[in-house]
Amino acid sequence: MLTPIEEVKSRLDIVEVLSGYIKLSKAGSNFKAVCPFHSEKSPSFMVSPARQIWHCFGCGEGGDIFKFVMKIEGLEFGDALRNLAQRAGVILKREDPQIRTERNKLLDICRAATEYFRKNLEQNNEVKSYLKKRGLKDETIDEFKIGYSPDSSWDGLLKFLAAKNFQPQDIEKAGLAVKSEKNSTGYFDRFRGRIMFPIANSSGEIIGFGGRIFEGKSEGKKVKSDEAKYINSPQTLIYDKSRVLYGFDKAKIDIRKNNFTVLVEGYMDLIMCHQAGVKNAVAVSGTAMTRDHLQILKRLSDNIYFSFDMDNAGEAATKRAIDAALSEEFNIKVIIVPSGKDPADFILEHPDKWEYQIKNARGFMEFYFDNVLSKNNLETAQGKKDVSKILLLQIKKIKNRVEQSHWISLLSQKLKIKPEALEEEIAKIKTNDFLDSDSARQIVKENKQKPREELLGERIVACVLKDPKLKKDIVGLEIEPILCYPSGQLLSILQKAEDDLLEQIKEEAEHLLDYANQLLFSLDAMEEIESLEEEIKFCLKEFKIHFLKEQLNKISFQIQEAEESLDEKSLATLMQQFKNLSQELHQALDPLVTE
Ligand SMILES: [Zn+2]
Repeated sequence: MLTPIEEVKSRLDIVEVLSGYIKLSKAGSNFKAVCPFHSEKSPSFMVSPARQIWHCFGCGEGGDIFKFVMKIEGLEFGDALRNLAQRAGVILKREDPQIRTERNKLLDICRAATEYFRKNLEQNNEVKSYLKKRGLKDETIDEFKIGYSPDSSWDGLLKFLAAKNFQPQDIEKAGLAVKSEKNSTGYFDRFRGRIMFPIANSSGEIIGFGGRIFEGKSEGKKVKSDEAKYINSPQTLIYDKSRVLYGFDKAKIDIRKNNFTVLVEGYMDLIMCHQAGVKNAVAVSGTAMTRDHLQILKRLSDNIYFSFDMDNAGEAATKRAIDAALSEEFNIKVIIVPSGKDPADFILEHPDKWEYQIKNARGFMEFYFDNVLSKNNLETAQGKKDVSKILLLQIKKIKNRVEQSHWISLLSQKLKIKPEALEEEIAKIKTNDFLDSDSARQIVKENKQKPREELLGERIVACVLKDPKLKKDIVGLEIEPILCYPSGQLLSILQKAEDDLLEQIKEEAEHLLDYANQLLFSLDAMEEIESLEEEIKFCLKEFKIHFLKEQLNKISFQIQEAEESLDEKSLATLMQQFKNLSQELHQALDPLVTE
């Protein structure tokens, strides 16, 4: 019988699963992509449908679908298994301790709470008719699992969840209850009297909520006293606000298909957008736009359309979001919503015109230029100075030089100022005026190269696995120096192995089987290899040279020590060893000497 892991693997195709996160393009019998785990321009991330594994030649990461989902979603193995099992339709036994984790408990609480909120909405005609008035169809309310948290009691949700055996401490950890300040053992519901928007992670599991105040008959007039119009779940173990985009789970496929993201501001904007058929839309919820948000979107497309309230283009949050997107080298467009409405209100009135607005989105710089130019008097010296100051700062942020010079020459025409003068001004702007600490993090993320002996060992393993006849070449190989690496361990197994090499690895070191498969794949993906025999010969020679050099280094160090301590006897032995090794190295390096 298959284990749950094997069962999941057999039902899901790696290309399909990975396509949900990154843009894959065909490359021979494999697929390639820009690696989501390190920063790169040209794709070195390869996927093998035949072997059902992936490997990045840039940063060395690789593995199966589980490893990928764990890494990209930041999950533990048990959660990745649960996530993929759900997609594969494989039922896992609930008592399996591997998947009973803290995270799952919180996910269960959020799922049950969603059910509670929906049930309450079902029973509340006032809220239902309000949602209808805002333009939401029943199917949409179902699709987004919108609900209502009643304000008839302080602990309606807590009681509902207690009946399902959830502890108040865990409900608090899930962000749904707040500890009472007056009574040390008491808790109350965080959300009361609010329309509830469940927030899902990228695989559609509910991890938090946004709650919009509902005021019944006085709705739309004035917000009650000092209560916030919107409140959100706090940051929890399962809800990392800096990485979650509202609607992403429903939008990711369409973002990739359309090759752009529509970014809106609020829950209602997003939902109306999807209802109007624009399904490649996401919203930032409960936090400002972060670099992580952008990187998640960047994996799917380089193009982003902002539909933020542009009357506030000068407003700090919008400006920062756009600047961050520019520095991530997104192509940015701005969707203009006529008469300064929210997208939600505009769509309510003109559901069929929304797509037109999107098609006619304007390039960000074009939009920003017009906006700044229209607000200043270009005839005066002061006006020209102000305009150039604002626009040059923006132009400086564009990373592409050609694009940069395009905007400088346009600005020079508008202001009737020589481009040279503008070039001079732009050179004065210091780039660190707008660089932030994120660039430091980027550097840390640069890949760590494996030591050369390990890489050579990997290549040798791959050659032998690919063509078992080559096993004869490694029989006498001195592998002691690389036994500390997985490739060294594989080599020691292969040296002794009889026939089916992969089978032998599975028997002796099952944990290395995936790794061995990856090495095989990495060989497949290297197109420049013509003959495996030549390749392994080359690697073995390099391997030998590498270790001779290492040994020579070590001995010359020992010679130095022996000289300093006047140890004549050791010195003589060491000198002899040095001479022998040098000779060996000389032979290995000289292509004319046959061994
Ligand atoms: Zn990589």
